[in-house]
Amino acid sequence: MTTQLLDGKALALQIKDEIAGEVRRLTAEGHRAPHLAAVIVGSDGASMTYVANKEKSSHEVGFTSSVYRMGEGTSEKQLLETIEFLNNDPDIDGFIVQLPLPKHIDEQKIINAISPEKDVDGFTPVNIGRMVLGEDCFVPATPMGICTLLRRYGIETAGKHCVVIGRSNIVGTPVANLLSRKGFDCTVTICHSRTHNLAELTRQADILVVAIGRPEFVTADMVKPGAVLVDVGIHRVEDSTKKNGYRVIGDVKHSEVDPMCSWVTPVPGGVGPLTIVSLLENTLKAYRRSMSKR
Ligand code: NAD
Repeated sequence: MTTQLLDGKALALQIKDEIAGEVRRLTAEGHRAPHLAAVIVGSDGASMTYVANKEKSSHEVGFTSSVYRMGEGTSEKQLLETIEFLNNDPDIDGFIVQLPLPKHIDEQKIINAISPEKDVDGFTPVNIGRMVLGEDCFVPATPMGICTLLRRYGIETAGKHCVVIGRSNIVGTPVANLLSRKGFDCTVTICHSRTHNLAELTRQADILVVAIGRPEFVTADMVKPGAVLVDVGIHRVEDSTKKNGYRVIGDVKHSEVDPMCSWVTPVPGGVGPLTIVSLLENTLKAYRRSMSKR
């Protein structure tokens, strides 16, 4: 079987080019550039890398970008005050609060405080509710990126059996919802930590989306030959042969699974770059909405 790549890196470059073109056109007309802000609390290495990547990508497409770095000891009240400030700043179109937050801060309380109009991560109850109802909303970035990959690569989805492993609020649950809806029309099964006979179910998948958070969990015996495989997982493992001392792997054992598949997302360079691009697309949408109200 020939396996083809769902090349997130290449597609992200193409979409970033399209966004940059739009930003150039807007600024040439005398408008300000879209502005994406990020709040990061503490100094978790992975979170700092994610925020740095988002900042870099914002600059690449011509957005204004700002990062609010707050110490590990930041109180919930201080963080809520920062969110209130960002909600009310007319020059900021959208912002994200990088998760996870330190244990003493109630994550859901923080998410609930973000204005749905600026919630470009699509995590607030209002945007999740709108998404489930099929209304115009900000769709969470990773599920949106997965949908973009499938759509832009012309993957046939109607009537296909899609099995999603993982039911988190930010990946598994929303991607299952989106792929079951009109437009994608998959028949979706959601699997999770309490699922019995997982491999029996995953072997039925025409499209297998893996968002489980366990390195190389999915092996060849769990996959149907010819399946489309989307690996959302990101894990750093030590690797002394690499300059930075680590390499990135996914939730799937790609060495044995990829040759069986029709299409696969590589790790790195699959879903990750599309997540960032989706955040940029949501910010551009928030910007257009706020400009049209002025
Ligand atoms: P999570 O830990 O919140 O959820 C994991 C899900 O897997 C849970 O719903 C759980 O029920 C399920 N699960 C755990 N063990 C299982 C088992 N043995 N059998 C079946 N299901 C099981 O994780 P998440 O936030 O959804 O992230 C998943 C992975 O995706 C992580 O590796 C994360 O780093 C990565 N991620 C990547 C991106 C990206 O842009 N590429 C974005 C978000 C998350």
